[in-house]
Formats: sequence, C-alpha cells, structure tokens
Amino acid sequence: MSFSLHGIRRAPRRVAVMSVHTSPLEQPGTGDAGGMNVYISETAQEMAARGVGVEVFTRATSSDQPPVAELAPGVLVRHIPAGPFEPLGRDELPAQLCAFTSGVLRTEAFHEPGYYDLIHSHYWLSGQVGWLARDRWGVPLVHTAHTLAKVKNAALADGDTPEPRTRVIGEEQVVEEADSLIANTAVEARQLIELYDADPREVHTVAPGVDLKRFTPGSKTAAREALGLPQDAVIMAFAGRIQPLKAPDVLLYAAAELLRQRPELASRLVVLIVGGPSGTGLEQPQALRELAVSLGIERQTWFMPPQPGQSLVNVYRAADVVAVPSYNESFGLVALEAQACGTPVVAAEVGGLPVAVVHGVSGLLVPSHAGPDWASALANVALRPDRHAELSTNAVTHARRFSWQRTTDALLDTYTQATSAFQRALEVAV
Ligand code: UDP
Repeated sequence: MSFSLHGIRRAPRRVAVMSVHTSPLEQPGTGDAGGMNVYISETAQEMAARGVGVEVFTRATSSDQPPVAELAPGVLVRHIPAGPFEPLGRDELPAQLCAFTSGVLRTEAFHEPGYYDLIHSHYWLSGQVGWLARDRWGVPLVHTAHTLAKVKNAALADGDTPEPRTRVIGEEQVVEEADSLIANTAVEARQLIELYDADPREVHTVAPGVDLKRFTPGSKTAAREALGLPQDAVIMAFAGRIQPLKAPDVLLYAAAELLRQRPELASRLVVLIVGGPSGTGLEQPQALRELAVSLGIERQTWFMPPQPGQSLVNVYRAADVVAVPSYNESFGLVALEAQACGTPVVAAEVGGLPVAVVHGVSGLLVPSHAGPDWASALANVALRPDRHAELSTNAVTHARRFSWQRTTDALLDTYTQATSAFQRALEVAV
C-alpha cells in the first residue's frame, strides 16, 4: 500500500477532530464547556483560513441538532447520535464510545478512501475513538489531553471527588497509541513523559492562544456601565466553570479576609463571579452563594451566568484584577484573555499558569490557596494604582506573545511531522 497516492507527505487537506463530550458550538463557562471548546473552535477556524478543512465530531445531545452544522466556512460540526438525545455525565460516556465510533466510521464510509488525512482527538474519551478510526483509516492520530487524571488527583481541592481509574487506564492507552501528543506547556509535556510514560519524541509543546482582536484594552467606565457595575467599585473577578477544582471559593475567602483587614472597603468591594456550575460543582450548585452568605459577604458578591463575546470582554475590562485560583490548570485561557484586556491576573502557581502569567510582571502567582495569601496578593494588585498601571501595561505585552494563529502554525507543523513519521513507519512495515 502506498500512502503517497493520498498525498500525505504534505500538510493535511482535511482533519477529523474528535470532541466527544462537548461541542465547539456550546457556550463555554458552564457544564462541560470551557477552554477546550474555545481551543477547538479557534484553531479550526484558523486552519480553515489556511485552506485546511476541519470536521469536528461531537455527540448529539438533542434531537433538534442537525446532523451537520457549519461553525464557520470550512469548519463543519457533525452531531453523532450515541445514546439518548440529552446531556450525559462524563461517567456515562465511556459506555457510548462504541456507538460514537461506529457513527464516525459510517460517516467516513460515505466518502472516497483517504477523505480525512489526520485525526486530532481532544480529551481521553475522544482519544479512544481516534485510536480505532486511525487504525481503520490508516492516518496519524494526534492527541491533546487538556487535563490529566493523575495530575488532577494529585492536586484535589479538599473533599473533591478523584477522577476514576477508568479514566487513568483510558488515558494511558491513548498516550500509548497516539502518534503525536500535544502538551500546552513544558510542564504538561513532562507530566506526559514522567507520569504516563509517553515517548519524548512524540510529545510536542504548543502554547494555546488568545483572540487578540476580541480581547483588547478598553474603557473601564464603559465596561462597568454596560454591565451595570458601580464606577467607584474595587472589582475582583473570576470567570469560568464553577467547581471545586477551579476554586472560586478561594476568592471569596480572600475577599472576606480583606474586609476584615480593611473594613472601609465594605461599600466598594465587588467580587464578580461569572460562570455556571460544572463537574463536581453540579452536586452543590448553590455552594458558592451559601459560602458568600456564611462569610458575610453576600452584599459584595455578584453572580453572572456564563457570558459570550463582548460581554466577557466587558467583564475583564471592568475588573481591577482577575483571579485564577485553580488547584490545577493545564493552561488557563481566562488568564490570557484578561491580560489581553489590560487587566492584571492573580493566579495560583500551578500547572500552566506560570506560563500564562509572569510573576511580578503581568500579575502575581500565589503558591498557596490560603485566604490571607490571596487577600494580600489581590490587594497588592488592585489597591496600588501605580503598581496596577505597570502590571496592566505589561499584561497586554505578555498576552500579545500568544495568538491562535501561532498555535495553529505549530499544530500544522506537528501534523506534517506526524504524517511523515507515520508514512515512514508504514514504508518500513511493508
Ligand atoms: N468563558 C466564556 N464565558 C464565561 C466564562 C468563560 O466564554 O462566562 C470562556 C473563556 O473565554 C475561556 C474559557 O471559557 O476561553 C475557559 O477556559 P480556561 O482555560 O480558563 O478554563 P477551562 O474551562 O479550560 O478549565
């Protein structure tokens, strides 16, 4: 069999992207939709702009969804029926992988052989599907884990539920099977090698990006007016999926501590929480509101549902500081988006966040999750105007080092390398 007939020596013409458990068409910031959805949507659009067709396969969660939807010119989203037309928990999804894979293989079978040149799977569930499709289609499998169970379980919030063994085993299999692995940072690359025994030659570090056209500095006054937030407030914001791993409670504890130290702030402090419950946070969707009440800061704590586009830009512009207190974060897109808007970030010193935020330059990194440490870091950024101005300028400069164009260039390089290596391996085998 000669794969050069299919032209796979060059960059792919059409990529099959597996995104089983969540769709790039969903609004991020709640449930299973977050940074991965943004990543897939942004890089798919960039690939299409470079003439590479992208078809994203995701599970159909409603009978209203068309079999195929266009996300953007050159980017299709295929809704594959697998199980009931309703959202399923991640623990229920492994049982649907056979049905999902069957739907993917049937879709491909309607086309001429060699229709897809490469598979890129996101998250371990998709990796399981991609692995079988790779074997059937004879094309390379590139995989991005986004998060890793062994890493997550080593850094759980108090009382949070560990990731199950099924996932650990599933991830190990995908790491073993994938032709190339994409890590968001060098730290994640090391975790894949050390914890999952990945072959270092197959691990490629590709930094995620940020939409530098959408996330730009702008008027704080206008942003606060648009969101109905007071002009004289000190605003500390959190944006993202509300679950113990993301630790928005740390921001509440810090705010309560700050008010203890500086009671004069009581009438001005606003803790803005943007997002909806997700993951183990769905078990107690009211927990954060109850915590605000028990800490006596319910008057200062404002909740907003997940925000799309311009409205999220206004959140970042309106805030004096954005907090990313996660226990684990493979990268942290929110940190980059906030900085691109000129808002300094206080982030936990975990995972990819030390890449997303430069300590003392574009924000601060906090090595613990203790309320007093966070209170002092947040006050240092938000309440010192000179320091704030300097961090804000640097934050914009730092964020500009990242873009989805760059991410996509690096992904396409990896695709080309994976294709050549795959072809060489086939030639040796024949
Ligand atoms: N997000 C959004 N609306 C919201 C909150 C978050 O669109 O109300 C998006 C945000 O722009 C970011 C993503 O959700 O791109 C969250 O990504 P991040 O890497 O910070 O966290 P993850 O969800 O991957 O854990």
